[in-house]
Amino acid sequence: MSDCIFCRIAAGEIAADLVESDDDLVAFRDLHPQAPVHVLVIPRRHIASLAEVEASDEEVLGKLYAATARLARRLGLDGNFRVVTNSGARAGQSVFHLHAHLLGGRDFDWPPG
Ligand code: AMP
Repeated sequence: MSDCIFCRIAAGEIAADLVESDDDLVAFRDLHPQAPVHVLVIPRRHIASLAEVEASDEEVLGKLYAATARLARRLGLDGNFRVVTNSGARAGQSVFHLHAHLLGGRDFDWPPG
């Protein structure tokens, strides 16, 4: 989608601090990090939110989760990290292209705000 900022990052049209990229996924550092490590992992294909996932998205979602775990290891998070996906404006989603936040490098509270 030409007006989606994460599609434009995936296409290389907008600069981002890329961490990893393959045919299906792109990972880049969050512009406003909420932890010492804060990486966003997105599918290249535009999916607006987790609420809009369809059966045909299952494979890429599996890859996204597995890649997030791999990244956590690569970034030295030592098994302690949080993965967050906000779905819908009331849950805090501000960019409507599905993404997982990988957060680590500090302690986290529960429940989240
Ligand atoms: P959410 O609010 O869950 O939809 O998360 C969107 C995240 O995208 C926020 O943490 C923003 O800081 C981040 N963000 C927005 N624009 C950019 C960008 N151009 N590059 C990197 N991160 C971004």
